Amino acid sequence: MAGEPQDDCLFCKIVAGHVPATIVRETETTVAFRDINPQAPTHVLIIPRAHYKDAAALATAEPALAADLLREAQAVADDEKLDSYRVVFNTGAGAGQTVFHTHAHVLGGRGLEWPPG
Ligand code: C5P
Repeated sequence: MAGEPQDDCLFCKIVAGHVPATIVRETETTVAFRDINPQAPTHVLIIPRAHYKDAAALATAEPALAADLLREAQAVADDEKLDSYRVVFNTGAGAGQTVFHTHAHVLGGRGLEWPPG
């Protein structure tokens, strides 16, 4: 069924508490934790508790949950006292997606180049 936990999914295991993570925020629908390989002073991943392979699949199936991720991105920025920040959804292997459970990267705390690499 859509959104159900997947046994082979690393981020479903973090949601379930079976893989450790440095969790910074939790809501009924989302979990936010620090990226283990940070690319900026603040690098937090926000994931839905429900399993969808990428942002597009999530937005199609549960648009309100997709919006939850963006609200939580602002909440992380507020917690970290960031005036500006970047939200990235790598979508597909060619764009650098390595974990196929929707996640928003929230990056901030340094100047960010445009265009990104
Ligand atoms: O967009 P992408 O799929 O590449 O992002 C996955 C992210 O998950 C990476 O930035 C990686 O460092 C992070 N990660 C993590 N904790 C893990 C495994 C991966 O924060 N246990």
